[in-house]
Amino acid sequence: MDEFALIERFFARRVAGRADIRLGIGDDAAVTRCDPDADLVIATDTIVEGTHFLPGTPAREIGHRCLAVNLSDLAAMGAEPRWCTLSLTMPDADPNWVDAFADGFFALAERYGVALIGGDTVHGPLSVTVTVHGLVATGQAICRGGARAGDLIFVTGVPGLAAAGLRALRDSATDAASAAVERFAYPEPRVAEGLALRGLATAMIDVSDGLAVDATRMLSASALGAAFDLSRLPLDVVGADDALELALTGGDDYELCFCLPPEREAELVRRSADWACRAIRIGRTRDERDIDWLLDGQPCEPAGAGFEHFPEQP
Ligand code: ADP
Ligand code: MG
Repeated sequence: MDEFALIERFFARRVAGRADIRLGIGDDAAVTRCDPDADLVIATDTIVEGTHFLPGTPAREIGHRCLAVNLSDLAAMGAEPRWCTLSLTMPDADPNWVDAFADGFFALAERYGVALIGGDTVHGPLSVTVTVHGLVATGQAICRGGARAGDLIFVTGVPGLAAAGLRALRDSATDAASAAVERFAYPEPRVAEGLALRGLATAMIDVSDGLAVDATRMLSASALGAAFDLSRLPLDVVGADDALELALTGGDDYELCFCLPPEREAELVRRSADWACRAIRIGRTRDERDIDWLLDGQPCEPAGAGFEHFPEQP
């Protein structure tokens, strides 16, 4: 099947007519209408076979993942997803593979109202790049660096669950907890949760490389330290002997870690009442730049540093 037939059949036809899109797929570039009262929030992420997903991963999962990881970045800014582009590099043009890929991609895209408005389709080792565009009211994007000393630190969902699922897949464990495998295979971007935190969270980051390293990034950006009380994490749900290790350094969670002032915790409880996941208070920021990781009052240093593409050689 040639490139144009593929695009036409699996991608171009899936875009519904929308007033905010003057031109979608089919011209040299897409043209969108921007809201004058909004800031445009843009994120891009590439996923590569062998690095971000196992060789042989079902196409549907890859279609979901390439968009989910990008929507997670928009969620972490408190932005509302609107448009995306898709650059697909693949070793061959197998219509069955692309069909399943598009299924996974559009199931998620439709759920969050994000329209595919363009892309590129080329031959090469399997890799997918998605760029997402979202909107947030002018000046309201939630950045990593906005936390203040004394803010409470929260995380959504079950950090470590995806890492437990990845391990189960790698080990081909037949008794693998299906919730863990599902969480790894179909990460759910916390879009609604990110939107609900506008005007409430002082700082936010999405947890993709491990809670310890990502929370540390947020604290560094805010020029703060913190004390974490990790006994509040739902480690029993992770269902592994090394659940704490997985929660801190496992990666692939795509949960949100955020800060807010203590006097606004009740507001968080109100706003999160209808969330699909819990928001758990795991720590408090402070002016002193060091970080204490405590479990039942005992220090527990995260062993791994989270995922790193280009580790420094010793
Ligand atoms: P060009 O040669 O100008 O780059 P292409 O042949 O790559 O054009 O693409 C033709 C049209 O199809 C463009 O509108 C492009 O954005 C769109 N397109 C190509 N690949 C994809 C894809 N994987 N998903 C969505 N749109 C795509
Ligand atoms: Mg092209």
